[in-house]
Amino acid sequence: MSEDGTANTWRPRTRMVRGGLARTGFRETSEALFMTSGYVYDSALEAEQSFDGTLDRMVYSRFKNPTVAMFEERLAAIEGAEACRATASGMAAVHAALMCQVKAGDRIVASRALFGSCHWIINDLATKFGIEREFVDGKDPEAWARALSKPTACVFIETPSNPTLELIDIPHVAELTHRAGGRLVVDNVFATPILQSPLALGADVVVYSATKHIDGQGRCLGGAILGTQQFCLDVLGPYLRHTGPALSPFNAWLLLKGLETLDLRVERHCANAQAVAQFLEARPEVARVLYPGLDSHPQAALARRQMSGAGSILAFEMKGGKAAAYSLLDRLRLIDISNNLGDAKSLITHPWTTTHQRLPAEEKLAMGIGEGLVRLSVGLEDAQDLMDDLGQALAE
Ligand SMILES: *Cc1c(COP(=O)(O)O)cnc(C)c1O
Repeated sequence: MSEDGTANTWRPRTRMVRGGLARTGFRETSEALFMTSGYVYDSALEAEQSFDGTLDRMVYSRFKNPTVAMFEERLAAIEGAEACRATASGMAAVHAALMCQVKAGDRIVASRALFGSCHWIINDLATKFGIEREFVDGKDPEAWARALSKPTACVFIETPSNPTLELIDIPHVAELTHRAGGRLVVDNVFATPILQSPLALGADVVVYSATKHIDGQGRCLGGAILGTQQFCLDVLGPYLRHTGPALSPFNAWLLLKGLETLDLRVERHCANAQAVAQFLEARPEVARVLYPGLDSHPQAALARRQMSGAGSILAFEMKGGKAAAYSLLDRLRLIDISNNLGDAKSLITHPWTTTHQRLPAEEKLAMGIGEGLVRLSVGLEDAQDLMDDLGQALAE
């Protein structure tokens, strides 16, 4: 739908601003917002032909909407994917990307350090339908080789992981997945399309919670699934069409505008997070800082290999456990206590008692989540103000 034939040669920054743009007859500058559930036909025959596929046109916004399509095309152009399908939330994307491709008797292998709801879909939901699952320590290449020595339909990973910032070697796991006969699905939320390109590293499908950096301004929920034309049309397409996790055109419009500044924002996020991580690492109250941009990160070399920047999220362990973590959170004046991430505003949360509350203590500990662990999503404020705020709160 791009304006002219030059779109394929545009560099990424141009695609972020103009990819997918489909102007109407009014020649508006900004993308048009089509708040419509349906479409009308000039004749009964036209309706028939729209349903039997003779005519390629929009028939219902659960299937396709012009504003949503612009968002899908722009994100696909940024990601370098053949196709993209948008969803109402990140979880709708993860759910559809996994469940559309598995059946009873299949096997899913996933990394253990996952976003809580992703863990629930694989561990609690998929198993109800007779799908086997195995969780592995994502940072251990041998564990992947063992788990993928059996036929496997689908592998699901998150890298960097939430909230412990563990990395998974995407090319290594992609190769093992393909040998086991499956597809590799990567939840690329923490890295964003700017810092890591899982498809180029061998993955088959990428999923996003667009709620995070893609909106990045705390306004709406959204999600996206990217892959080959064949996957999006034949495997995922019918699943989305009939289960209906469609993205609202209004939210698609917000997300389209989010993509225009994503690159700029992620650059600032990374610079701020690096400064804050180094500041925290030097503080005596902090036992350790987990951030892929620090030399102390156990997988710093892998981070440099597969990511072009370390991202906006870091975690750190307070020496005094839960009491010290709570006292830090309660003393902050600028940084907000919130479980969201990837926002323009810096947000801090205590995973043990919030995002990962439902997990048994042993599982949290196995994932590296201790009672003193704090997750910080570093925003776009002045980094010095963030460090001042953390400094005053730690000093109490
Ligand atoms: C937030 C998040 C999700 C879920 O996205 P929603 O938009 O909240 O449904 C999935 N994976 C990761 C890594 C996330 O951070």
